[in-house]
Amino acid sequence: MDYREILSESEYKKYEELINVTNAVLFKLDQGGHFLSMNLEWSNITDYSLDETVGTHFLRYVNEKDQQTIKEQFGMLADRQKDGFFLEVELVSKQGQSEYVHLFLRSDLDENHTIISFSGTISSLSSRRLHVSAFRENDDNYRLISENMTDMVAVMAEDGLVLYASPSHTTILGYELPEYVGSYPMKHIHQDDWERMFNFFHEMILNWTTLGIEYRCAHKNGKYLDLEMKCTPIKGPNGEIQVVSVSRDITARKRAEADLRQANNKFKTLISSLPYGILVEDENSQMTLYNDAYIDIFFAGGYSKKLHEAGQLQVLEETKQFIENYEAYEKQKKQITQNRLNCRGDEFQLKDGRTIERDAIPIEEDGRFDGYLWIFRDVTAKKISEQKLQEANQLFKSLSMIDGLTGIANRRCFDEALENEWKRLTEVSEPVSLLLFDIDFFKAFNDLYGHLAGDACLQKVGSILKTISWGDHDLIARYGGEEFTVLLPGSTAEKAAEIAQVVKNSIGYAAIPHKGSKIHDFLTVSIGISTTIATTVDKPTNLINEADKALYEAKRNGRNQIAVYSKY
Ligand code: GH3
Ligand code: MG
Ligand code: MG
Repeated sequence: MDYREILSESEYKKYEELINVTNAVLFKLDQGGHFLSMNLEWSNITDYSLDETVGTHFLRYVNEKDQQTIKEQFGMLADRQKDGFFLEVELVSKQGQSEYVHLFLRSDLDENHTIISFSGTISSLSSRRLHVSAFRENDDNYRLISENMTDMVAVMAEDGLVLYASPSHTTILGYELPEYVGSYPMKHIHQDDWERMFNFFHEMILNWTTLGIEYRCAHKNGKYLDLEMKCTPIKGPNGEIQVVSVSRDITARKRAEADLRQANNKFKTLISSLPYGILVEDENSQMTLYNDAYIDIFFAGGYSKKLHEAGQLQVLEETKQFIENYEAYEKQKKQITQNRLNCRGDEFQLKDGRTIERDAIPIEEDGRFDGYLWIFRDVTAKKISEQKLQEANQLFKSLSMIDGLTGIANRRCFDEALENEWKRLTEVSEPVSLLLFDIDFFKAFNDLYGHLAGDACLQKVGSILKTISWGDHDLIARYGGEEFTVLLPGSTAEKAAEIAQVVKNSIGYAAIPHKGSKIHDFLTVSIGISTTIATTVDKPTNLINEADKALYEAKRNGRNQIAVYSKY
């Protein structure tokens, strides 16, 4: 049988050497389990010719006691529960003799993963076991090196039969050496790794080179271990192919790697779900990590996908063009990183007018500087509401400082201003005067013209006061009811008397009819003046009290007049 018929030309080339050197049966079955082809080794084991075998069913050559097991395994292949199996079974030769063999069978799948045929190998155990004992007797070379190694050293025949295994196999895999040597360890290998392992083996032998592979192998207790194996093909004493393998258990390393990956993933998820922009840079200020929020802050959404695809360098370049006064920003950043500063809440502007708040936190790894964590928050909305609040406060303050009826400062404003002005005046030792004036017979005005007219009258007085040209520091206020006051910083008593006269005249010129007044046809006021030099021991309220006393004097003396407070 020419194997070229069942293998493509390129496949044949690849496997030529194996097919020729192997002393295992290589065969192919159709989907129903009938022989399609096999190599000559089949006749050496069973005495059946290839021609009489092709087209017959595989089970025909299997001892009855093993048929059920094989049927079950076939069933599992057909159901795609497995893609292959290993079994030790008994074949029956043409002469009716028992032949113990190691059988491996696997499914051949097309691109739709449909089974199109089965391929297998059969190795005669009786003859193979001879190989093992031959190896045992002849080859002590490996023992010298391998008996004391913690790595597992093994020598295998080219079909995977274990000829020698070092004692560490027992420690690592749990098998006693006698049960491991002379067996086919392929059956311990995780099924998902078979394909890779076959390719690995073929490649190593065909290229006659040392190769490495990582795979999963079952411990005797059934638990899978991660192994790392290096294999080298060698020629045995009779020119046959053998493979030396050195394996080690990397389960712990793999687990640590997986744990790290998992931790990294958790970390990444955490980072990406944070509402803050996160940027991590290494000790050379190279960007190592950033999250979506970082992108969103600088690019106000939308660009993230494009930028992620463009890669990190691009992100950094693009970031620059959005920062207002990037040079200053960069300079400050250098200052922070060079001095390893820990900064919280620095603010900077983007060109689109948004305000970004930034934290800079140096990262230390075992006491060694390892880069920077930057946290960015878009505080534009916060800034705007802060500003609005400030404006509202300002408005509220001005509203609460102005008398609603007359539009001049109210009592509260006056008290505050007086307090402040007093402090300033104690330093300059200048005189300060105060006018306090009150409309005469205003109750009668209300009674005669009505309260609304009274209000209008007060408004009129307010606007008259506004037309007077006051000094820069003078403050006019409605002190309460129909009483008004004027603070005159820097004014002597004489100067204050002049101003009081101006006030009195201005109201007189307005000629507001006041038939209820007992002293005049028009509205008149009485004015009290007090003057002092502010000192820290003196109190501004004294100034008011004294003006009030003077006002009382003016009233008492017949109203429509000015009185100056005198201490004597
Ligand atoms: P005098 O010459 O002694 O000051 O007499 P007067 O009537 O002006 O003094 P009095 O204190 O007896 O009355 C003041 C009046 O001012 C009483 C009050 O109804 C009136 N008044 C105070 N505030 C207002 C206001 O906002 N609007 C109006 N229409 N009247 C007010
Ligand atoms: Mg009054
Ligand atoms: Mg009055």
